[in-house]
Amino acid sequence: MRAWGIRWKLTIWYGVVLSLILIAFDLGVYEMVRRHLSTRIDQELRVELHELGQEIAISQAQPDFLRELELRFGRHQNCEFEVHSPDGHSLFRSTRLGQEHIGGAVSQASATPAIAETTIAGLGRFRTASQTIDGAVGPLWIQVAAPLAPYLAELRAFGVILAAAGPLALATALGGGYVLARKALTPVDRMAAAARQISARRLDRRIEVPHAHDELGRLAETLNDMIDRLRDSFDEMRRFTADAAHELRTPLAVLQSEAEVALRASRTEEEYRRVLESILEETVRLSRLADQLLTLCRQDAGLAPATVEPVRLDILVHNVAEHLRVVAAEKGLAWEITPLEPYGVAGDAAQLRQVFVNLFDNAIKYTPAGGRIAIAGAIRDGRMVISVTDTGLGIPPEHLPHVFDRFYRVDKSRSRDPGGTGLGLAICKAIVESHGGGITIGGNLGTGTRVCVSLPGQISR
Ligand code: ADP
Repeated sequence: MRAWGIRWKLTIWYGVVLSLILIAFDLGVYEMVRRHLSTRIDQELRVELHELGQEIAISQAQPDFLRELELRFGRHQNCEFEVHSPDGHSLFRSTRLGQEHIGGAVSQASATPAIAETTIAGLGRFRTASQTIDGAVGPLWIQVAAPLAPYLAELRAFGVILAAAGPLALATALGGGYVLARKALTPVDRMAAAARQISARRLDRRIEVPHAHDELGRLAETLNDMIDRLRDSFDEMRRFTADAAHELRTPLAVLQSEAEVALRASRTEEEYRRVLESILEETVRLSRLADQLLTLCRQDAGLAPATVEPVRLDILVHNVAEHLRVVAAEKGLAWEITPLEPYGVAGDAAQLRQVFVNLFDNAIKYTPAGGRIAIAGAIRDGRMVISVTDTGLGIPPEHLPHVFDRFYRVDKSRSRDPGGTGLGLAICKAIVESHGGGITIGGNLGTGTRVCVSLPGQISR
């Protein structure tokens, strides 16, 4: 999804959540205010009712107490009053009531103030408080009524304010939310633009890391790490192609010059034979190189071995060793193989055979006549470790870290003769690692070399 899409999505989500919160908040506040206003009106009614009761208690004994009531409660600025005699007749009414009554039934009167709502004809809706009090002539029923109109108007005004402020607050918050989301996502746009600039030819470019410790910073770092790895792979690929081309060029040049020289004049049969033998030798070298390149390409294509089947490693190593024993004997090398414990690994038998062919072949190639080659195996930490030790030329320590690199030869002049391509150990490493194992090489110049291959598997019975 494009950056503006996320921006809008965030803003809309934010808006929906905020609207719900605002609506709940508005409803809550409205209800609180409504209750507060109605409590206030009830309070006022009770106070007035109390005052009316007290006035009656003080002046009832006097004959003109009704006139007293008229003076004090006849024209109250807010409330209406009514006093009923014990037999239910209206003794006193405030002026604005005229012929109307506050209403309600005497029968429901109680000694404590009772609150109710009523409509008085011509005057509107009222909230009322009624109570009976003990008068000198018997119980009197007194009533106070306050109009609801001002209270409702106040509540409506408040409702209008809330209704108007809600959308305003929402719009402001949404605008702010959008700006914030845009600000937060701007680095993503910049990163995308930077990533678009990066291509196979421009892998030296990097994405700017906005803030190293936040999520976007980590994303930028991860992308940069990925570009680093890509650059390394591209470099390796370029090196590999250049090396492969270089390796192919030498035998091809030899083939070409041999053929050209042979064709320049007529030759004896012996001379043609020699040229053809030389051409055959170079062809063998070329096809071996092609095979090795193919093996490496296959290894590069997938980390897992091509086929996975149970392989008896001890038997496999033994068979390869027996095959090469003849070659070693021809070169005058002592060949020792200590019997290996039965051990099974899961993997590709042909590939594993290739590993040991390469290792034994190297040992034979780099050990002069009269030397000794020993093959041994031991089970350590759930792995079978097979060592190939020779008493040959050895490898100087500074070369040890590189001998597994592709096309790496310790001494180009010394290994071209035995027909090395510098790919043997690289292939061994790729195969062993794809089987979950490891390979190490050690030894010193002059004292010989030891290569150890460890492969995970199980002891076979
Ligand atoms: P090559 O095809 O040239 O033998 P490898 O990848 O098998 O290539 O080996 C890389 C280099 O490591 C060789 O050129 C050689 O110099 C050195 N090397 C490998 N095995 C041995 C060994 N057993 N003794 C001495 N040097 C070795």
